[in-house]
Amino acid sequence: MSRIAYVNGRYLPLRDAMVNVEDRGYQFSDGVYEVCEVRGGRLIDERRHIERLARSLSELRIPMPMSAAALGVVFRETVRRNKVRWGIVYLQITRGVSRRDHAFPPAGTLPSIVVTARNLDLQGAEKLAADGVAVITLPDNRWDRVDIKSVSLLPNVLAKQAAREQGAREAWFVDDQGLVTEGSSSNAWIVTRDGKLVTRQADHAILRGITRTVVLEVLKEQGIKLEERAFSVEEAKEAREAFITSASQLVLPVVKIDGKPVGNGAPGLISSALRRDFHRHAETT
Ligand code: PMP
Repeated sequence: MSRIAYVNGRYLPLRDAMVNVEDRGYQFSDGVYEVCEVRGGRLIDERRHIERLARSLSELRIPMPMSAAALGVVFRETVRRNKVRWGIVYLQITRGVSRRDHAFPPAGTLPSIVVTARNLDLQGAEKLAADGVAVITLPDNRWDRVDIKSVSLLPNVLAKQAAREQGAREAWFVDDQGLVTEGSSSNAWIVTRDGKLVTRQADHAILRGITRTVVLEVLKEQGIKLEERAFSVEEAKEAREAFITSASQLVLPVVKIDGKPVGNGAPGLISSALRRDFHRHAETT
């Protein structure tokens, strides 16, 4: 089946889906993105993803090119045309096409929009969650506004590649005080020896993950002890459990950090329960 992408108002086969070489996303990474889970052909937490998109755009002073409702229509149509049952829908909005100049283009330059969707391997994902994954740690060398979901992801690309080369699934960034910020494409969590859930506070040093927000709600509802604070690599290595969250990986148990087993080296009970219960709390539309 040939895949279909939405590009600036048209649905096109992927091979014909192109952007201009002077698109500012291509030239300067001058754009933002969102990734939303698709489950049973429906969108998970669409409202929150669109709210975060609006915030990222506003921080970068890129106009929102269409209403949330219109964007929802494009998401659904792209999912439908690509026959996605379980997978992701990807949205990218850039500052548009203009002769190359670092400063903003003339007022009225239209943002570019691309939406793609694809199926993911559900069985593979469940196997990964049942086995748990390894993470490595490395210095956080990103800029100080990673709360904006910018397409400028070079440090994340290099970090993920370093993880792959070391047989790990994810890389955790560590700030200059030895504290974990987040993963290259996920938020980082631990369960302490005394059963408290810990994840870094959402300031400018991490992306406020939508999956993170929903998990926080689950924990509050269930009265589980929770601390939104930074934790060190040492504390994580001594933790009872660890896991990562993201829209495409959901809640994914971490069983090894820098080669050292976490807890007994198997996915923890709390991580597994959160993964199992997640969709009862997420919004499906
Ligand atoms: N942090 C980073 C750097 C990410 O790329 C992602 C995934 N987009 C996340 C956290 C998790 O965010 P979400 O739960 O919204 O997918």
